[in-house]
Amino acid sequence: MTKAPEQIRPEPRAGIMEIAAYVPGKSTAGAGVTKVHKLSSNENPLGASPHAIEAVKALAGKMEFYPDGSSSRLRQAIAAVHGLNPANILCSNGSDELIGLLAQSYLSPGDEAVYTEHGFMVYKIYTQAAGATPVVARETGEKADVDNIIAAVTPKTKIVFLANPNNPTGTYLPFEEVRRLHAALPRNVLLVLDGAYAEYVRRNDYESGVELVAGNENVVMTRTFSKIHGLGGMRIGWIYAPAHVIDVLERMRGPFNVNAAAIEAGVAAMQDRAHVERTVAHNAQWSEWLIEQFTALGLRVTPSVGNFLLIHFTDDTRHGAAAADDYLSARGYILRRVAGYGFPNALRMTIGTEEANRGVIAALTEFLKS
Ligand SMILES: *Cc1c(COP(=O)(O)O)cnc(C)c1O
Repeated sequence: MTKAPEQIRPEPRAGIMEIAAYVPGKSTAGAGVTKVHKLSSNENPLGASPHAIEAVKALAGKMEFYPDGSSSRLRQAIAAVHGLNPANILCSNGSDELIGLLAQSYLSPGDEAVYTEHGFMVYKIYTQAAGATPVVARETGEKADVDNIIAAVTPKTKIVFLANPNNPTGTYLPFEEVRRLHAALPRNVLLVLDGAYAEYVRRNDYESGVELVAGNENVVMTRTFSKIHGLGGMRIGWIYAPAHVIDVLERMRGPFNVNAAAIEAGVAAMQDRAHVERTVAHNAQWSEWLIEQFTALGLRVTPSVGNFLLIHFTDDTRHGAAAADDYLSARGYILRRVAGYGFPNALRMTIGTEEANRGVIAALTEFLKS
């Protein structure tokens, strides 16, 4: 198609305009709400470690200096806590950046990347951004289905993304299932295990992926400081990967992709194991309580091992998810709509402070009576 000269302007690569941009959780409530409880992005209700807060304050006087481009101290802190070799760790500006770097590095136009039906939206976005084709594997019972993932793999497949536990369902695959998936994948397919919520899982049959990465050339594990460490605003992620993958990502990443404040906060947060333990204990206590309460209200909750719950509403629109969201927002409780994840009639709630959790249950009790 020829264009008139005045219509000519720079055009993006093919496919970019087909990407539906990521929509983050809301952070504002209805007008006149005095206290807002943000329960929409799986943030830590206890906040960041006090040591991390101090570390960032101390950095404020040194902002003119470039950060250490290889995040050495942060990699060492992570390696020490997780028992890993720092040479197999690479840090990033949030783990989202890693998903993008992996897609840019291993996917070409015409290639395919597989993820699951209710999987994290970012996998699809970065697959499309790389010009490749996203392929969805159906889940069974709101849980990743290994047989369906294997069936979705073709000679064009280059990456399989698996969030374990998954967001927004909170369900997980036991290690045996992940191992079975890996065993069925061709050796040239990269298995990306996204362990954003790994620290929260208290199940004997769960393993975040360390063992599979260590023993294979085609498995990587991504992790984040945004959830358990309460540092979502600092943007820190990390990957544990075989040396050849680290070598690729080193070439692809920005030279100073982790900023100086993030490095300081990350080191302090990683070393504060007591804060992590407090967070896990708070989460276990309130997640159990919330599940009981929602169930007593007649609302089904997907069994979650993460720091959030997927709550299913009835089909009657007066008491459906959208109406519930409006009702809660007007009272300062911000949950996450998940229609874009294939759940038009559910809301995802981050386990919050005691005040927020009790407040949501009280408000929903009124809402369901209305
Ligand atoms: C929150 C989340 C992440 C982490 O994203 P960051 O970029 O590190 O903040 C990654 N994967 C999943 C599944 C998540 O829910």
